[in-house]
Amino acid sequence: MNRVTLDVQREYECDVLVCGGGVSGFAAAVSAARNGAKTILIESGGFLGGTATKGLVAPFMTCYDAEGKERIIKGLYLELEKRLLELNGAVSADQCLGSNSYNGYRPMGHKGVMPFDGEIIKIVFEQMCLEAGVHLLYHTTLIGCETQGKNVSVVYACDSNDIISIKAKMFIDTTGTSALAYKAGAETMRGNEDGILQTTSMFFTISGVDKAYVDAHMERMTERRERFYMDAIEQGKKDGTFPCGTPTIRMFENPNGTYSVNMAQIDEQVNELDNEVITQCEISQRLQIQQIIKFMRNNIPGLENVELVATASDLGVRESRRMVGKTIFCLEDIQQSKKFDDRIAVCANSIDIHQKDRVNYTTHTGSNYYIPLSCLISNNIDNLLTAGKSLSADRYAFAAVRVMPPCIAMGEAVGITAALAAKKNIAAADVPCKEVQDILVANGAYLG
Ligand SMILES: Cc1cc2nc3c(=O)[nH]c(=O)nc-3n(C[C@H](O)[C@H](O)[C@H](O)COP(=O)(O)OP(=O)(O)OC[C@H]3O[C@@H](n4cnc5c(N)ncnc54)[C@H](O)[C@@H]3O)c2cc1C
Repeated sequence: MNRVTLDVQREYECDVLVCGGGVSGFAAAVSAARNGAKTILIESGGFLGGTATKGLVAPFMTCYDAEGKERIIKGLYLELEKRLLELNGAVSADQCLGSNSYNGYRPMGHKGVMPFDGEIIKIVFEQMCLEAGVHLLYHTTLIGCETQGKNVSVVYACDSNDIISIKAKMFIDTTGTSALAYKAGAETMRGNEDGILQTTSMFFTISGVDKAYVDAHMERMTERRERFYMDAIEQGKKDGTFPCGTPTIRMFENPNGTYSVNMAQIDEQVNELDNEVITQCEISQRLQIQQIIKFMRNNIPGLENVELVATASDLGVRESRRMVGKTIFCLEDIQQSKKFDDRIAVCANSIDIHQKDRVNYTTHTGSNYYIPLSCLISNNIDNLLTAGKSLSADRYAFAAVRVMPPCIAMGEAVGITAALAAKKNIAAADVPCKEVQDILVANGAYLG
């Protein structure tokens, strides 16, 4: 490997540096700043939201309990929902408890989803960060770091012109690929025991759906195989005109009447850390989407007049490198509803593993489960935390909490933890969890 000398043009210093502005990074930054930390958030794109905005992924999965009766993910998530509703930028999760167009007519595991407007949410994310006092730096990509002993001391990032350095007391890696953890030499893991990752997909948005027709024909059917479009798909598979790996029509209505579609898919394993590979996948997914649109128009009643509104600007990478934490959140923890002393969130999303040719959709035992703070704190770097996609979990527990409401709950908790650690000048793991929990509860979170 060639070593390069970094010519640093600008230097920053803060208490908490958040790397990556997806839903997890947004929550972590707001929460750190609200708890008194001078906070910087760097994001390689030009807005916040990550997979939710660049990736066009919608809706937010459930914030409800296992029975679909009570909200259990509240706190900052509920605040986000309220802000979106004020701007007509969402449909309340309360209105998505049955089978309807917003949850893709799939109440099983999809009770209490929240559809949102991808443009309004960008503004809400930004305004909430700015109101909390977060210093946002867009078009700023983490490229390296230095460590001193068991701590990250400085992060290096580049914008379109300069290399910058950012010193901080605490660092939160919400890049979705554990990029900072990897650069810092923190222990990481990837995929299942054989390194196999969930499939990648590209979301797209369509208009022109005959809602009355689709509603009328979907609502009568609960079993996927009975649905009105399945004959057309089976025929399309036989004659080679059905172009994608997903076995069914998967589309979710947005508040503005467009639909988010989750059908394009790459069945082969994709190295999500290799830009050569990602580039080829993005090119091929856009072609696959053209074929899906053609198939819809020619074969599916109610979709004869659909138009493509947008394809995601980033490939949807469900699973990547994860940081190894003080503990590893496991399938058994979910199955046994293990009530960790250091729990920071209660969730009920199903274990949702996407694999070649099918979705291996295993619902959990039907109870709520708890995420521990210790799976968000690095095993070997004292001032490094994570949230969201990079949490320390086996692939089953990961598959349950990788969706956006738990990501926000995790971000909220690590933001508080990092702010307290910075204030007290202690390692993240030494922050008394009770203090974090008290702040979470005071902010409306439910911890069971
Ligand atoms: C195809 C697909 C379908 C899904 N469907 C749903 C769904 O229907 N509902 C649901 O709730 N969840 C869904 N999910 C899961 C969910 O969207 C993601 O797991 C979640 O959004 C992850 O959020 P995050 O903030 O942890 O990471 P990300 O969204 O990946 O955000 C990471 C951010 O970090 C930035 N970044 C990366 N590297 C750097 C760097 N070096 N420097 C600076 N910035 C960097 C990125 O630009 C990005 O903004 C889906 C995911 C995929 C891929």
